[in-house]
Amino acid sequence: KQEGRNDYRLYSQDMNHQQHRALAMETALRDAVESGDGLSLHYQPQVHRHDRTLAGVEALARWQHPDFGRVSPADFIPLAERAGLMVALGRTLLGQAIRQQRHWLDQGLVPVPVSVNLSAQQFWQHDLLVQLRQLLAEHQLPAGLINIELTESVLLDKQQQAIPLLNSLRELGCAIAIDDFGTGYSSLSYLQDLPVDVLKIDRSFIQRLGESRSSAAILAAVTGLARELAFHVVAEGVETEAQMQALERYPVDLVQGYLTGRPLPASDFAALWLGKTRH
Ligand code: C2E
Ligand code: CA
Ligand code: CA
Ligand code: CA
Repeated sequence: KQEGRNDYRLYSQDMNHQQHRALAMETALRDAVESGDGLSLHYQPQVHRHDRTLAGVEALARWQHPDFGRVSPADFIPLAERAGLMVALGRTLLGQAIRQQRHWLDQGLVPVPVSVNLSAQQFWQHDLLVQLRQLLAEHQLPAGLINIELTESVLLDKQQQAIPLLNSLRELGCAIAIDDFGTGYSSLSYLQDLPVDVLKIDRSFIQRLGESRSSAAILAAVTGLARELAFHVVAEGVETEAQMQALERYPVDLVQGYLTGRPLPASDFAALWLGKTRH
């Protein structure tokens, strides 16, 4: 009986520790979202498959905290969603991406569209369009220099409500990509109803290329369908020359992965990837 109680106490101390840490991290994230401290964007190139020249760039959120160190967006984005911080965080990040584009233009650098990721809560917030229009106007940035990435689950949960919103975003001038394509839903028929421009094939398919026949078959089917429906196709997570070579057999327009370029801080990205315009 005595021992049982000790076990319980240990267990409960452990739980308290975890809960304490989770709470501390939530508080830290709340502070970061309020102040902007430690939050930044890294930029990963998206290149043309055939000659590896720059076509666009994806903005990826980074959070660095004095106690927690570098926290992965795979952890702090879901935390922000749970804590009701995602709309504020998303607004901060969208503002950063737009300001960065403005800065690059002002420096006379050749602009390429920046893709920003929108989480479910961001996409469904009531004033997304107003917010986006305001930020673009404030920084005098053409909407064509901002693209939007959404996952299948965000779109398909409320497909009928999503369509008018997607149409408005495209009318504004933003291209829309479906992110992590192939991981969410088994049915492809919804594709013909969604007003989107780009499919980003999830990296799990690219990584199994050459290992399994079925992933080659899936890739052939998906890229073939995408071409029929006039979508652009981006292959995500290309890490090796062998994968790059294997992709030559499919109608893939763009490639994004560690092989062709890692995510970099804005200044490093510009130095490595953005040339000057000739006046
Ligand atoms: P994602 O949108 O699918 O972004 C691609 C992720 O794959 C990034 O991870 C990128 O660094 C990583 N990656 C790129 N190339 C390769 C490769 O060749 N191999 C491998 N193994 N990985 C590669 P990251 O930056 O850690 O972001 C993880 C996820 O967090 C993103 O996945 C996205 O879902 C979310 N996220 C990141 N930034 C934001 C943001 O600003 N807003 C929202 N809502 N979500 C974000
Ligand atoms: Ca993405
Ligand atoms: Ca992705
Ligand atoms: Ca992902």
